[in-house]
Amino acid sequence: MDYFEYKDGRLFCEDADITDIAGAVGTPFYLYSKRTLLRHCDIIHRALGEVEHLTCYSVKANSNLAVLALLAAQGIGADVVSGGELFRALKAGFAPEKIVYSGVGKTEAEIEYGLGQNILTFNVESIPELELINDIAGTMGKLAPVALRVNPDIDPKTHPYIATGLRENKFGIPHAQALEGFRLAAGMRNLRVIGVDAHIGSQITELDPFVESAKKLCELVETLKDDGISIEQIDIGGGLGIRYADEIPPEPSEWAGAIVPVLKGMGCRIIFEPGRSLVGNAGILVTKVLYIKRSGDKVFVVVDAGMNDLIRPALYGSQHEIRPVIRIDSEETVVDIVGPVCESADFFAKDRTIPLPGPGDLLAIMGAGAYGFTMSSNYNSRPRCPEVLVEGSTFKVVRERENYEDLIRGEHILVD
Ligand SMILES: *Cc1c(COP(=O)(O)O)cnc(C)c1O
Repeated sequence: MDYFEYKDGRLFCEDADITDIAGAVGTPFYLYSKRTLLRHCDIIHRALGEVEHLTCYSVKANSNLAVLALLAAQGIGADVVSGGELFRALKAGFAPEKIVYSGVGKTEAEIEYGLGQNILTFNVESIPELELINDIAGTMGKLAPVALRVNPDIDPKTHPYIATGLRENKFGIPHAQALEGFRLAAGMRNLRVIGVDAHIGSQITELDPFVESAKKLCELVETLKDDGISIEQIDIGGGLGIRYADEIPPEPSEWAGAIVPVLKGMGCRIIFEPGRSLVGNAGILVTKVLYIKRSGDKVFVVVDAGMNDLIRPALYGSQHEIRPVIRIDSEETVVDIVGPVCESADFFAKDRTIPLPGPGDLLAIMGAGAYGFTMSSNYNSRPRCPEVLVEGSTFKVVRERENYEDLIRGEHILVD
């Protein structure tokens, strides 16, 4: 459920008329709904109510400071994958003791940063990383809290680029080596082994892979207990899918209903790392039609947003629902909706049947709240677009549109 709805044929975000917002901030822009964000947060929290848990929002899905601050104020934690994300999370008010740090390539400086801030856990992805964290913690006179991320070799049945828990993926320690990894970690002086962790992929729309992963983690915790290593925290990652087009993902309550019974009796605190399911349907990308271009049989709707603003269709072939911001009554036409970037992958929809818009009309690309702005770039020297947050009938620009000067900041022309 979200709060993007038509009123008298005009698309609203909560009680704000999107056409008015476009008039004020120009196009393209990202638009987020506060009410939707809070609702999703609440739904997930209530779904998991039965177990002692900590929700650690995956910052990479949408890392706008205003969005992060809203989520932090709900008392949840954060899952970060870089020093930059840790910086953002702290700035936005997440408590360090609710921050977990994941990722296969943490640098020395990033580990020092996390240790210095006393974060909850490092989710460690390899033996060499364990050794490095142990060394740095020793130098800093700290005891580093670690969980080992295992790769459970489970097919999440999602796009190959967002599957992370298969043997051939770079993530985690192979399940077969997990015990050895934990023994090593337990023997390191400057580490405190507190958890097991897995994250098998993203946009997962079936329950089985989650259940399987949870079971494997529980089995591992039992094995470790027999080995004298006691685990207090099980992190089962994120990955719950959302509806973009015709997918039917499990409701958060169904998802929780499937995994909570597996995890409940373990006597461990459970960590969840949802990203997309919290923010995906809380945001849209609003763009303006520039031209209707006919070539041969094809009709191209050329819009002012491009793959640099939202790369998901180009990268994953993902389907986003696209709605007119003001309903139109024109002829249903098969079109490609494309951006201005000089790449054939620069499209938002192919062979989509929509009422044919005209130049100047606004389109809303739905489900753009996750992996939208955070994956945007300046490709083709396009300033990145603004992010706007709606609360009720009011809106605020929470990240300004970049200008041409922003594009060249930090660059130097060599003169001899
Ligand atoms: C990306 C990521 C998540 C969030 O995934 P979603 O599919 O957005 O829920 C959680 N944990 C880790 C380690 C990740 O890399």
